[in-house]
Amino acid sequence: MKFSDLSADVIDDLLTFIPDFSTLSAALLTSKQQVYTVFQSRPKSILARVLEENSQAVRTIENFFSFRYKDQASPISRLEPIESSRFRRALYRLWLVLRENSVIPPISLANSLEMAGLDSVPAMYTEDFFKDEFEKIIRARKVDEKTWSERHDKAILNRATERQDQCHRCHAVCGVNLWGASNWSILKGYFSRGEMVNLFPGNLTRNAVEMNAFNVYFEQNPQIDDRMLIEQLMALDVDESGVWAKDKWYCLECVKELFRLRYWKWWLEKKRQDGVTIEEDCWYGYNCRTQRHAQPHAQRLNHLCMPTRGTGPN
Ligand SMILES: [Zn+2]
Ligand SMILES: [Zn+2]
Repeated sequence: MKFSDLSADVIDDLLTFIPDFSTLSAALLTSKQQVYTVFQSRPKSILARVLEENSQAVRTIENFFSFRYKDQASPISRLEPIESSRFRRALYRLWLVLRENSVIPPISLANSLEMAGLDSVPAMYTEDFFKDEFEKIIRARKVDEKTWSERHDKAILNRATERQDQCHRCHAVCGVNLWGASNWSILKGYFSRGEMVNLFPGNLTRNAVEMNAFNVYFEQNPQIDDRMLIEQLMALDVDESGVWAKDKWYCLECVKELFRLRYWKWWLEKKRQDGVTIEEDCWYGYNCRTQRHAQPHAQRLNHLCMPTRGTGPN
């Protein structure tokens, strides 16, 4: 059967499955006569469907926005009605501007948020992506730096609701840029697993034997999400960095400090728990240079230890 054999009712049905306005207008343009005739006869019902589907997507995305920028403790939007309306208007405008560039159809963004959870939001959907696209618009409109920074902060949220919350450890006032039990799930958009392991001290990340075992461990234990990992790091009793509490909020710098201090010690602990034989400590500890290129040496000695001689890594 050819497209032209379809009845008006079937085309009408097909049109209501179109997820957004840009696809709809593309469909109208590509098959002008037939599709457009059907659309003309029933535009309201079709538009209503498209809007309805998008509004669900917008609600999901608003929940995420609120969770990230207004209230990290609530997965449901806490935006006030005026804030919500600003947010939605901004989102529709952005889509309108980006309509030729179908990178972020509302429904697929909402689906990825909903189906896979906040922890799987690709980085492109978080700040950087929007920032990049937004900056293009700002530049095109020749908005100067000063106006931009003055208006930016109150573009959606009312200033009055700005939070003064502090980091539990360093007391920096970070407002919503704090991390804790309810938002560890979206940490990876800000601090990835790759960045975490790069905080291993000395030359450990250049020890292929060690890094291979480390990667295999995570492949075999996919249940270890960021939240579990961080709570285990906090529970370790290995240094004098103070008490880390899983029910408190921390700034990103302090979260990184937690990894800098304890991630490698956590890894040693995991190996012990897994029954791996821990070899004798290398004198040069994590700073050892030989571990970088001599596999037998890397295998024969433990490098997850403090250096007892030698100088710093290079
Ligand atoms: Zn801090
Ligand atoms: Zn060594």
